[in-house]
Amino acid sequence: MFGRKSERIIVVGAGQAGVQAVASLREHGYRGAVVMVGNEPYPPYQRPPLSKAYLAGDFERERLFLRPDSFFAAESCELVLGMPVMAIDRRAKRVRLADDTTLTYDRLLLATGARPRLIDRASTRLEGVHYLRGIDDVDALRPRLVPGAKLVVIGGGYIGLEVAAVAAQRGAEVTVLEASERFMPRTVSPIVSAFYEEVHAAHGVRVMVGAKADGLEGGDRIAAVHAKGERIPADVVLIGVGVIPNSELAEDAGLECNDGIVVDEFARTSDPDIFAAGDCTNHPYLDGARVRLESVQNAVDQAKAAAAGLAGKPHAYREVPWFWSDQYDLKLQIAGLARPGDVTVLRGEPATRKFSVFHLRGGKVAAVEAVNAAQDYIIGRKLIASGKAVAAERLADTKVAIKSFG
Ligand code: FAD
Repeated sequence: MFGRKSERIIVVGAGQAGVQAVASLREHGYRGAVVMVGNEPYPPYQRPPLSKAYLAGDFERERLFLRPDSFFAAESCELVLGMPVMAIDRRAKRVRLADDTTLTYDRLLLATGARPRLIDRASTRLEGVHYLRGIDDVDALRPRLVPGAKLVVIGGGYIGLEVAAVAAQRGAEVTVLEASERFMPRTVSPIVSAFYEEVHAAHGVRVMVGAKADGLEGGDRIAAVHAKGERIPADVVLIGVGVIPNSELAEDAGLECNDGIVVDEFARTSDPDIFAAGDCTNHPYLDGARVRLESVQNAVDQAKAAAAGLAGKPHAYREVPWFWSDQYDLKLQIAGLARPGDVTVLRGEPATRKFSVFHLRGGKVAAVEAVNAAQDYIIGRKLIASGKAVAAERLADTKVAIKSFG
């Protein structure tokens, strides 16, 4: 059994990483007190359905919550909701909450997530301009996605494209503006970008790449978005231009931060009593490069490592990262991280709507992107983890069964 009964661990942030850490702490036999403080009014919930089935109205709100209320009682976790943590006093080992109460801790976990990057602060206050991070954002956006509504999506990343897909299927007139020359430029290869541009266009979405939004026009309400010298009429705008890690609390407390809270592979910050996990962290990747990841897998696996460390049983976080996106009837699954210079191998034909792109580095699979090709994705993940050498020509040949590589 770890942790004296009089000990207290505080988890800041009631999200995906925070709730995983609570569960894992108890699994590790930690028996001290656990307090989870979250600034949202909800218990921890999953975000992926927010831009997919929940936005479409096909997913009940109750199913968003990651654990039943009984979980927190069963795990003896005190849940403080709707209450931002304002400051950390590392010398006194206590946190100050928004209502000025203070709580002392023995060890702290920062699981504060990330928030949407804002464009031009003033114009985004216009009625009809939306961001998407939480339940309330979806509840405000969904009623506006009615047949004939003119939706302009700023940002052709996952969230923007998932919203575009839902809106197009609900009969909205959708335009997607992507500032770079292709969709999802940070995370997928040009073949996959081009495929998704075609898919969206086939669903009646107007796709504009190389199109940075120059300005939002409107009085009280949004009226139009300007891009590429054009005025694009809009009833609704969804801005999805990336996120910023919530690391200010850590920065103000003097913890090392650099595009996120800097942690090592054990999820330890520069203070031995403070750990961090999830979207808010900047951590070492398998190859040693530092990364900041925004995914459920990262939040869950890093929280497990953090909980192990908090419970006095350090465990390194060395999982192959994975991610998915649902758009229309297509499931995109990605594992590993591609890098410039990788050799890309196309397996299958995009025209069949089932294909994958493998990224080889030094003859080994470093990443895979699979569209409606679950087997390729599963084997790709295994190959990344095993580091087994593969021949590009064989991988490209669909007559060679993918299972033979595993
Ligand atoms: P969060 O789940 O964001 O939790 C952090 C919590 O901490 C938040 O409630 C935040 O408000 C709170 N907080 C911040 N500061 C404070 C403070 N000072 N005091 C108290 N509380 C604080 N990932 C995938 O893998 N696949 C997907 O398909 C996918 N789709 C997504 C769709 C959408 C619309 C969004 C928004 C995200 C999606 N993600 C997806 C990303 C995934 O949801 C996140 O990576 C994951 O939620 C990160 O978990 P986290 O615990 O780090 O952060």
